[in-house]
Amino acid sequence: MRHAIRGSAISFKDNPFAKPVSECLVYEEDAIVVIDDGKIVAFGPATDIQPTLAKDIPVTRYTDALIMPGFIDCHVHYPQTEIIGAYGKQLLDWLNKYTFVAEQTFRDKDHASEVARVFLRECLRAGTTTATVFCTVDPTSVDAFFEKSQKLNMRNIAGKVLMDRNAPEALTDTPQSGYDQTKELIKRWHGNGRQLYCVTPRFAPTSTPEQMEMTGAVWQEHPGTYLQSHVSENKGEIEWVKELYPDCDG
Ligand SMILES: [Zn+2]
Repeated sequence: MRHAIRGSAISFKDNPFAKPVSECLVYEEDAIVVIDDGKIVAFGPATDIQPTLAKDIPVTRYTDALIMPGFIDCHVHYPQTEIIGAYGKQLLDWLNKYTFVAEQTFRDKDHASEVARVFLRECLRAGTTTATVFCTVDPTSVDAFFEKSQKLNMRNIAGKVLMDRNAPEALTDTPQSGYDQTKELIKRWHGNGRQLYCVTPRFAPTSTPEQMEMTGAVWQEHPGTYLQSHVSENKGEIEWVKELYPDCDG
């Protein structure tokens, strides 16, 4: 069904990472956006668009608002929804005390689905329409997430965390099982509707060099998939990573 919205709007006509923002940002004081069956088919100043609209197209007017594209969150962990704000002195303490405890509950599909539902609802409430998301080590957590995302027709990028050391037994895989599960999830979800897969080694301390090798391999075997991880976030972690990967440049 065709409908339109009218109000102040911003959009981008070019890539602000490659060009000055002033050359990319478009601001219209009074714009009309025309949407047909969920897709934007026209956008511009109301004076240009208005005459092209059929008389019976409903136009919703927003007078005290700014119409803008959906936000994209480049890094977020949906299994941490329940522990937002949990106090931790440093990353490593925080992981052991809260995160790794919370993540163990995502083997239960019902629980994972409920947290995914709340997480995605909160994303949309904040105007975030796409996110790059860490799930947990359990493939169930990925299925639960993508099923909910698919239902909402959101475009999300997510993946199963790969961890084969320095984490609780219940949260570890092996280089082989991590590889196999990732491959299976890519087959099931990458390009399924608007869902996209992201190969997800958590960070250097929780993957052996062997797992890193296999992670690189599965990513290269599937062009078009994404890759996410973490760089070191504090000094204690940097020292630890240096010990674990002595051959790498500090
Ligand atoms: Zn993170």
